[in-house]
Amino acid sequence: MSIKDEVSKRKTFAIISHPDAGKTTLTEKLLLFGNLIRSAGTVKGKKSGKFATSDWMEIEKQRGISVTSSVMNVPYKGYQVNILDTPGHEDFSEDTYRTLTAVDSVVMIIDATKGIEAQTLKLFKVCKMRGIPIFTFINKLDREGREPLELLEEIEEVLDIETYPMNWPVGMGKRFLGIFDRYNEQFVKFNGNEEETYIPYSELDNPEHAELVNSATYQETSDELELLDEAGDQYSMESILKGEQTPVFFGSALAPFGVQTFFDTFVQMAPNPTPRKATSGIINPENEEFSGFIFKIQANMNPAHRDRVAFLRVCSGKFERGMNVTLARTGKAFKLSQTQQFVASSRDTVEEAYPGDIIGIYDPGSYRIGDTLLESKENYEYDELPQFPPELFKRVTAKNVMKAKQFKKGIEQLVQEGAIQLFRGHPMESYIIGAVGQLQYDVFEYRMKNEYNVEVMLESIGERIPRWLKKEQVDTSMFDERNMLVKDRDDEFLVLFKNDFALRWFMDKHPKVELIDLFEVN
Ligand code: GDP
Repeated sequence: MSIKDEVSKRKTFAIISHPDAGKTTLTEKLLLFGNLIRSAGTVKGKKSGKFATSDWMEIEKQRGISVTSSVMNVPYKGYQVNILDTPGHEDFSEDTYRTLTAVDSVVMIIDATKGIEAQTLKLFKVCKMRGIPIFTFINKLDREGREPLELLEEIEEVLDIETYPMNWPVGMGKRFLGIFDRYNEQFVKFNGNEEETYIPYSELDNPEHAELVNSATYQETSDELELLDEAGDQYSMESILKGEQTPVFFGSALAPFGVQTFFDTFVQMAPNPTPRKATSGIINPENEEFSGFIFKIQANMNPAHRDRVAFLRVCSGKFERGMNVTLARTGKAFKLSQTQQFVASSRDTVEEAYPGDIIGIYDPGSYRIGDTLLESKENYEYDELPQFPPELFKRVTAKNVMKAKQFKKGIEQLVQEGAIQLFRGHPMESYIIGAVGQLQYDVFEYRMKNEYNVEVMLESIGERIPRWLKKEQVDTSMFDERNMLVKDRDDEFLVLFKNDFALRWFMDKHPKVELIDLFEVN
């Protein structure tokens, strides 16, 4: 098969959601429909010991996360579907954000009983900033939840994105009858634990469906649907691909209901690997020469095995195990012979891979996040990964002042690796590390001790709202502990606001100072 054919089969996406919205349940159904597993209840590696054979970082083991679950490769109806995990809860980290730079689309799951929740919002901001197409699945229709129209309104208002309901639910919870599948012009009937049935719109007039059609809930919803047809946003594939409109599917991952239709429509609509920006111009996935970039590096925390795995997204050409590539940043050559791909629950050696695929490559300690690897003689690099604004900040010092040298070296290397972000107080120099999630501090502390032999002290300065500002607008007298002035790695100034109130107060007092939210500019 040609590279073009392979590209046209690839669908690489991540699921964004808040814990408990149903990510695992939905993923499981995809594996089930793709015949990769036989029964539900096998995906959740967490704490079940399923993936305990993994020899990855000790912290990961303690937390029960496993590398194997971070990428899944699922053959589905002729497509090659790659699902990238976006860990949440305590496992949330900058890596979660970076993962979103390696996908071509995103599935956003919203719990119909809860609406938009904190983690969904955070991840959504990254999608928006990258212009990633978003497909929404509103889950748990089998339970009494919020009104569909209200949910759509919330999505439009909070997330500032147009919605287009691909289907429309008839009732919910105990009164749930099914969905109008607007896209495929059929009614999908909910039969409780039994399999759903499909009734084409043209057959709804048949007497056998009279009971359904004459029910009050059905009639009410048909009226609603008519209104939607007339007054709702128009379906626009162009807007969807730009991330300006999201197709919305209602269903239940658990039942499962509406899931099959969702996946079938999703694989048809979701974009294949698209051309990507590089320093030399736009690189097409169909390009004969292999290229890719590293978006995540997983360090092994076992001091006896300092090996690491770099996660690489293939962007063009064909990857073959053992091939020679150049690291664009240094010009150094590498032979890629130790490689892994992640099929459902096992790590296999990968022999070949195509654009859209994610492979794990052995990292002798030479790679950095954002690195480009190339087969080509022509040297180019993919766009740098953006700096994501952290939310948690801690002052860090070495417990033993005699260890200042190792302390500095450790911090510098871990910052370079992208494990944490470093800020320096201003005008009083102090080290402040910023993170997106607590996991990053645990990893930082552990690695400082085990790799650099330095015990660190971390003093929390709490959750903060970072806003960057221009050098010429900085006047140190404007700032204090509440609105703390610091510098980032590029010596750019930013303010760590104590809370929303402090931010607004500052904006009122200094209306001329331009405050920059990194989520809004990249
Ligand atoms: P995750 O944290 O997003 O991976 O969420 P899970 O898939 O583990 O689901 C969290 C809980 O919600 C579990 O108890 C699921 O059984 C339940 N759940 C998931 N989907 C549905 C659904 O469609 N309806 C109902 N009633 N419960 C669901």
